[in-house]
Amino acid sequence: MEAVAVAAEARERLRASFASGRTRPAAWRAAQLRGLLRMAAEMEAEICAALRADLAKPHTESYVHEISLVTSSCKFALKNLKKWMQPKKVPAGVLTFPSTARVTPEPLGVVLVVSAWNYPFLLAVDPVIGAIAAGNAVVLKPSEIAPATSSLLADLLPRYVDSSCIKVVEGGIAETTALLEQKWDKIFYTGNSKVGRIVMSFAAKHLTPVVLELGGKCPVVVDSNVDLHVAAKRIAAGKWGCNSGQACISPDYVITTKSFAPKLLDSLKKVLDKFYGKDPLRSEDLSRIVNSNHFNRLKALMDEEMVSDKIVFGGQSDEQQLKIAPTLFLDAPLDSAIMKEEIFGPLLPIITVDKIHESFALINSMTKPLAAYLFSKDSKLKRQFERNVSAGGMIFNDTGIHLTNQNLPFGGVGESGMGAYHGTFSFDAFTHRKAVLDRSFLGEAKARYPPYTRGKLKI
Ligand code: NAD
Repeated sequence: MEAVAVAAEARERLRASFASGRTRPAAWRAAQLRGLLRMAAEMEAEICAALRADLAKPHTESYVHEISLVTSSCKFALKNLKKWMQPKKVPAGVLTFPSTARVTPEPLGVVLVVSAWNYPFLLAVDPVIGAIAAGNAVVLKPSEIAPATSSLLADLLPRYVDSSCIKVVEGGIAETTALLEQKWDKIFYTGNSKVGRIVMSFAAKHLTPVVLELGGKCPVVVDSNVDLHVAAKRIAAGKWGCNSGQACISPDYVITTKSFAPKLLDSLKKVLDKFYGKDPLRSEDLSRIVNSNHFNRLKALMDEEMVSDKIVFGGQSDEQQLKIAPTLFLDAPLDSAIMKEEIFGPLLPIITVDKIHESFALINSMTKPLAAYLFSKDSKLKRQFERNVSAGGMIFNDTGIHLTNQNLPFGGVGESGMGAYHGTFSFDAFTHRKAVLDRSFLGEAKARYPPYTRGKLKI
């Protein structure tokens, strides 16, 4: 079937299922969430194999960063589902006396989830968990750039969840475009901001609300008042230990002072040697670059004339294996491509400043990042960073791990995205909060009705 027909049929079938009321009861929602939990548990080996095929992702990363996060999202939703679904009583105003008032959560309808390749299992299933918990029917379009995971999801989901309400449509740009042309009740997109703009323009035609989970350049500021070895390990774990830097919240560049840079560099080099050995291209613990387009994009960033002599560690690559070694740059010019574009790979520029506070202006001169990190024991500096730096999320003394906390919203600001999810925020992302006022027939006020006479106001 042609892409447009597939998209239209998927939407129509799901619209009919949603209209039947099937997705609304808590029991249906819980059954789907339990199905996803079972899928994550029973299919762990298959999921890890797909992630290895797509990205050479190490088993530990596949399990800890993808499968276990899906599991904890499902468990959190199951635990809170009934509470989330309850209408919330609010005070009734004097002007509407006598009445009661409440905010009633209702599902939006049929939603579209378009996901990205870098965490192709997590980023596909996690938004679907929110959509199901909120009682919607959902079409999932996984990324074609991670084909093994995409086809595994298309195979597995109908076996574990209600396929009359939850459907996977595979494909690339043509198929996604055909889906975007349909009218949805919400579009949840994860990916780059260029396509984010395309998604938003399609959504505008139908006045469809969107969540855009985008990326950007996530800065890491390293003060001299730190536990250096811990800081270096955590920076490395958030960069190379997260899909070889192909993660939206991976450190993109580091800012430190000129005087502290040699110590930080030394510590990072030691940590990298320990993590990946003397020949990191052979390490089984380092994911590969997803495809040759991205490999060539990263090589071009490394080979740009003004930065190629700034490499102070690493620099090796293997086109056959699509692997690039962890690579550090010292003081790449701010107008180089590596400092202007999101890197999304294993390259890490370190920029030096005279005073650590100069980092604030440097970060704020760029588009707002998805995450910003500061390593410091100085509480005053931390407060200033929190107040002065705008980012989707922020961590002091670590990288990346805020996304594991279901009580924190996960999403961007400005160019790094709009809307958020995780935990309660996932439920909210796919829910309309309906204002309900329940009035009695008592409480008539004559002044409300024409003719408006002065006498009536004197009641
Ligand atoms: P991608 O290439 O997988 O694209 C994302 C989705 O958009 C895919 O499903 C793809 O089919 C679709 N798509 C691509 N081009 C399209 C087009 N022209 N028209 C319609 N649909 C199209 O992923 P990507 O964009 O390379 O992902 C990397 C980016 O995503 C980075 O910027 C990263 O920071 C960001 N990201 C953000 C998050 C987050 O949670 N905020 C998570 C992961 C990645």
